[in-house]
Formats: sequence, structure tokens, C-alpha cells
Amino acid sequence: MKKYQAYTLRNYLDIPQARVHLSEEERFALEVVGHVLPFKTNNYVVEELIDWSRYRDDPIFILTFPRKEMLSPEHFDEMAAAIRGGAGKPEIRLIANKIRMELNPHPAGQLSRNVPAIDGVKLTGVQHKYRETVLFFPSQGQTCHAYCTFCFRWPQFVGMNELKFAMRDTELVIKYLKSQPLATDILFTGGDPLIMKTKVLRTYIESLIDARIPNLRSIRFGTKALSYWPQRFTSDEDADGLLRLFEKVRKAGMHLALMAHFNHPNELKTEEVRKAVSRIRNTGAIIRTQSPIMRHINDKAEIWAQMWQKQVEVGCVPYYMFVARDTGAQHYFALPLEEAWNIFRKAYQQVSGIARTVRGPSMSAGPGKVQVLGVSEIAGEKVFALQFIQGRNPDWVRRPFFARYDPEAIWLNDLYPAFGKEKFFFETEFPVQRKAMLNLRQAGGLNYKAAMN
Ligand SMILES: *Cc1c(COP(=O)(O)O)cnc(C)c1O
Ligand code: SF4
Repeated sequence: MKKYQAYTLRNYLDIPQARVHLSEEERFALEVVGHVLPFKTNNYVVEELIDWSRYRDDPIFILTFPRKEMLSPEHFDEMAAAIRGGAGKPEIRLIANKIRMELNPHPAGQLSRNVPAIDGVKLTGVQHKYRETVLFFPSQGQTCHAYCTFCFRWPQFVGMNELKFAMRDTELVIKYLKSQPLATDILFTGGDPLIMKTKVLRTYIESLIDARIPNLRSIRFGTKALSYWPQRFTSDEDADGLLRLFEKVRKAGMHLALMAHFNHPNELKTEEVRKAVSRIRNTGAIIRTQSPIMRHINDKAEIWAQMWQKQVEVGCVPYYMFVARDTGAQHYFALPLEEAWNIFRKAYQQVSGIARTVRGPSMSAGPGKVQVLGVSEIAGEKVFALQFIQGRNPDWVRRPFFARYDPEAIWLNDLYPAFGKEKFFFETEFPVQRKAMLNLRQAGGLNYKAAMN
């Protein structure tokens, strides 16, 4: 039985492979970037998932180890100079926070928007954006077994985010769910809610079950534990208890889904993850999979086709492909929308209908989840066809709309309506804050990204 060991900036040189392989320069870069963006990996990731013979190109190495290019040259040099000059902790922290503020720490208004209230009390650990699904951030679930270098939730791992002080009890959440008869799902998210000990998780889940909320039909967990620590479901001392808890949800007549985050087929190659998947499935839970599309990690159609195929074979249901969010190291990971769409459709074409449950590429933007249906030509104009998969207003969903073709567009706020229109149809209710306009308005001032959406 393997015991979990986390590695961070403090102790990563205890990793034998890191000592042997990483050059002086790479270690320095890791420390520079790791002082701005969070760095955490673990013994399973290091020993079982990364191929150290080609670590520089290894997708899982890139997924968990910060590297120089993940900061802009200016940001990198600024932090590097401070570290080289022997700056003290407070000074380094100050510089780190300044850089972080320039990396759009709260994309799509994550913090302020979508937080409901009940009886005048703000539910800080809850977000309710799409009618059917309430997101819940339990306070003990706001970290992960390792950190993804592209993570859009990075601010909460470096203490910048009020979600860190998310909710501890379910009483208010239950009250809220009862007040929302059209909400059928609660989605536990984080961080990674399955980092919680079974004992803690049980108090949340059991109070939800015991509350017998008639409209609550599904409990979901957003998790990366299957990739980063499958032992959570196999050999951890409370693994069996977790599976019993899953069974309990099923016995209460509810749907139970793990929204599992996998970025690359290599995460599905170990005996341990396959065993974990099979144990979870035996409880009656369903595993749906999702991942962003990222340069340097999974920017090829073959990778996606292989990943979806493997997922189907082990018993998972491919669910979403996301577009890289506008935060953190986006400049390193982002792909133009057109390229993401091409990769999606070429991968989709290679798998049978069984894996075509997947939808994407999708942007989780301010107004909703916007899917890029593709590039087309209408009445002589080259356009993007788009649609909402989820909308802040449910009535927006599945109404095709069109944007002017732009091969460099990487996010919704790079897009302009086609056919000379001034606005997308939903903009009367929810205007898109376009980058170009924000750039003009704030020239020389604040980073435009911080004000987006
Ligand atoms: C993606 C998402 C959900 C879940 O959406 P489904 O399409 O039902 O999986 C819920 N809330 C927010 C804010 C989301 O981004
Ligand atoms: S597992 Fe999820 S929340 Fe955790 S670092 Fe990765 S993307 Fe972020």
C-alpha cells in the first residue's frame, strides 16, 4: 500500500528523478515560477505517470511542474531578479502578488457573480449560475492531490480567493436547494472535494440525503483524484468507506456522478486507476470525463481520440472538452478556437458513437458555456458557428449564432458578431466585455483581463 507524499517547492529535491534529471537552470525556473503559481505534485504522479526519460516533453511533467515559459519574460525576470538578489520573504510575496494580479486571477467573475443568498445571508461557498445545477465548495475540499500548471483555480491555492473560506455546513445549502425547485443537481467542487476524508464527506452527503429534498436528483463530484491519486478509491484507509458512501447515495435513489478530470491517455495507463474506476462503477456511480485542450499537453487529435477510446473501454463516459481559460499561464497553454475545433472534430471522427457523448470545444465564459460548432461560410462571409450548451438564461441554449471568423481568436471576448450586426443575440441581457475595447479604455492602466466578463 502506497502512502501519499506531496512535493512542493520546499521538498521537491527529495524526488530522486528531479535531482537526477533537472538541470540547474530548470530548477531555478521552477522556483521562480513556483513562487507565483502554485506548485504541488506527489509520489504517484512522479513514479507512475511521468516518463522521466523524456520528461521535457512529457505531458504529465508539463501538467504538474512549472517551467520558465509559463510566466511572461517580464514577470519571470522580475521574480528571478528578486530571488537572485536574495530578497526576503515579504518582498518576494509582494512581487508575487503584484504579478498574480496581472494574471486575471478571477476570470468570468468567479468570485462576485453567481453567489446566491438566502434570508439575507450570502452563501459564500455556493455558486448558482445554471438553473439545474448548484455548485458547492466545501471548505475542506479546496486543495488537490497535485496542482495542474494551467489551473484556473490557482488563486485559491495561493490564498487569494475568498472561496478558501467556503462553507463548512450544509444547513444553508439545503435551505437554498429547497428554495430552488428547478435545481436537480448539486456539484461538489474545489479544489478537489475528494481530497476530503470520508468522515468529513459523509457529514455533507448524509445531511443532504436525510434532508429528502424532492428536487435533488443528482449528486456530483468534480475530481482529479482518479489521475492524481487513484489510491483514494483503492488502498487509502478510508477508501472502502468512500465507496460505501457512494452506494448510500445510489440507495437513496439519486444519480451519482464523478466528473473526472483527465488530460491525457497516460493518466489511464496504470493498474491502479483501472482498479479505481472499476470499484467506483461497482457502486453504481457513473464516471464522466472532462478536460481542457492545452498546448504542450494534449494539442493533437490522436491524443483525444485515444483518450476517449480508453475512457470508454475502462467504463467512463466522455463529457466535455473545454477551451483554455483566460487566466494564469494562458499564453503558454492557449490554442486558437479554430485549432481547438479542428482537433475536436478530427478526434471525434476517429471514435465510434459510443465515445461521441463528448461535447466541445466549449468556453466557460461569463454568459455561459459556449460551444464552437465550427468554421463555415455563409453568404460569402467566413464565420464561426457557435451555440450555448449552458446559459445564464436557459432560453439561450441551442440557438446557433455567428461570429466573424478570426484565426487568432482564443476566447469569447475576441469575437465579434458576423453579418455586420452590432451584438450577439444575448448581449441585450449580458454584454460581452471585448478585449479590444477594454484595452482602449484602460490603456496604460490596469491589466484588461482583470475586468473581463
Ligand atoms: C459546467 C458548469 C456546471 C455544470 O454544467 P453541466 O453542463 O450540467 O455539467 C454548473 N455550474 C457552472 C458554473 C459550470 O461552469
Ligand atoms: S485538479 Fe482541478 S482544481 Fe486541482 S489544480 Fe488541477 S485543474 Fe485545478
